[in-house]
Amino acid sequence: MAVLRGNRQLLAQITAAADSGRVCHAYLLEGIPGSGRKTVAMHMACAFLCMADGGRPCGECLACRKVAKGIHPDVQVLLPEKDKKTISVDQVRQLREKAFVVPNEGRHRVTVIPDAQQMTVQAQNALLKLLEEPPSFSVFILTAQARSQLLETICSRLVCLETEKLPAEEVMAELKQRFAGKSEADLALAARLGEGSVGGASAFLQGGTASQLMKFCADFLRAAGEGTASLMKLAPDLLAMNKEKDDLSVRLKALRLAARDVLVAQVGASHMLLFENAQQALEAGRGLTKTQVGSIMEAVDVACSALNNSLNFRITVMNLLIRCQKTTQTQRKG
Ligand SMILES: [Zn+2]
Repeated sequence: MAVLRGNRQLLAQITAAADSGRVCHAYLLEGIPGSGRKTVAMHMACAFLCMADGGRPCGECLACRKVAKGIHPDVQVLLPEKDKKTISVDQVRQLREKAFVVPNEGRHRVTVIPDAQQMTVQAQNALLKLLEEPPSFSVFILTAQARSQLLETICSRLVCLETEKLPAEEVMAELKQRFAGKSEADLALAARLGEGSVGGASAFLQGGTASQLMKFCADFLRAAGEGTASLMKLAPDLLAMNKEKDDLSVRLKALRLAARDVLVAQVGASHMLLFENAQQALEAGRGLTKTQVGSIMEAVDVACSALNNSLNFRITVMNLLIRCQKTTQTQRKG
């Protein structure tokens, strides 16, 4: 089983529910990517099926070991089919048929749906029927970045739990172990960008060095300040990024912080999250007004949520550039 960092209160809550037998029918685990949502979901499945007398999951009984190996007959993980990005209504219908079969070995039949926002609206509606009248032994564990990604009707049936953020020092300590070869500066930047998540911070380190990220952000903001032609020159590089490996979302998160740094520097404050000092931020945002920087942040947010919802990669990139370009154009004319 993957090692869990942090989430201490949440894990204690899960153990208490499992030990007392007060297990609900459906849960939603909310949290930023890399905060351990899927690991916690599997931990819950383990806890609910564990055969120990207390302190569930024990991690040692047959049930715990089977869940950890992914071979427990009463645990099902629902993912999009191969080469698909969404979970279809047919998949949920099949799930519904199996849901009424009495568990083979455990007290519960546990269905885990990681990134549940990948369910189509029809699939969510099909699941809703199951959640409205679930078999007594069934437990559903959904994960998502935020409940707003799911239909409200679904959320109203779920007990919502949130994965917890780790203190920066703990993230830093873990990064030092995982990325022994990286410089202190790189690790510190990644820890800041990871916003309390080791997984999130690791993504930044895999995406390149801190200086590369800073250069990307500075180049982007400078191009936005220069206008359309410069912005459009960025398109080939952005489109060439590896969408499977989240290269773009890592850069967009950094870009959002960079834009925030520019705003902070423009009002005369100096607490920087991405840039090393306010001077660097002012330099990068030289051609931009505060309103323009704010609009760029909004455009980046829109692009981030489009990526999270697996919308078309190419369209997302082009929309981002067009939005940034429009802001700078209108502002210049006005
Ligand atoms: Zn156990």
